[in-house]
Amino acid sequence: MRKNIVAGNWKMNLNRQEAVALAEQVLAQLPAENSTEILFGPSFVYLHKIAKMCTDNTHVFAASQDCSEHESGAFTGEVSANMIASCNAKYIVLGHSERRVNFKESNQVLKTKVEQAFANNLAVIFCCGETLEQREGGVHFDWIKLQLTESIFHLSASDFANIVVAYEPIWAIGTGVTASSEQAQEIHAFIRDLIIQQYDNDVAENTSILYGGSCKSTNAKELFSQKDIDGGLIGGASLNATDFVAITQSF
Ligand code: PEP
Repeated sequence: MRKNIVAGNWKMNLNRQEAVALAEQVLAQLPAENSTEILFGPSFVYLHKIAKMCTDNTHVFAASQDCSEHESGAFTGEVSANMIASCNAKYIVLGHSERRVNFKESNQVLKTKVEQAFANNLAVIFCCGETLEQREGGVHFDWIKLQLTESIFHLSASDFANIVVAYEPIWAIGTGVTASSEQAQEIHAFIRDLIIQQYDNDVAENTSILYGGSCKSTNAKELFSQKDIDGGLIGGASLNATDFVAITQSF
């Protein structure tokens, strides 16, 4: 059974007091009967604090936004998967387009990062998605297939159980333009089909595939009602507790 997941990517926003206040507000507003898995994605700096705030809630966890491809050593400024695990995070988000574009992260580097995460018992939210030019050029299916093939399809089926895929069309991230529910569903079904081909039906049926790209409280219900959309990776709207909680309750 795949899980419904809503993950907030706080990016490089919020100081410590603001991050704590946001987590407090979300935790206070969540209904007691919530069954969605909810993730807070703060800066590394507050990861431990935010993870600690989640310990009393069985459905809320902390996720880091990245990790180093290296295990340890002379990599000034880098943060290892082991450090993240020791802060009690449950997930690492890898392959966000802002990291791929701004920090030139290749599929090969991401493959190494996935291995670092798994070596430290962390689950991975693996992001993929195309640019507007790729979509208009009709190469988006091939591009997404390549991203998955080169970074995560080498995993065993048992390791793949710790992967959540996030489809994030780059043209929809932070732009206010959302993929239509039909466009998103088409890609999610394509990704699930690739997982069937690579593994089997069971693995595909147990993999949560999230949508990311200007998902907000006003469009989440429509997106999450699609057969192959199991939740969202939320940027801007995750910074407002009321909006974020509304998104978590949109299934
Ligand atoms: C993201 O950064 O992963 C994202 C989906 O951002 P936004 O919701 O702001 O488009």
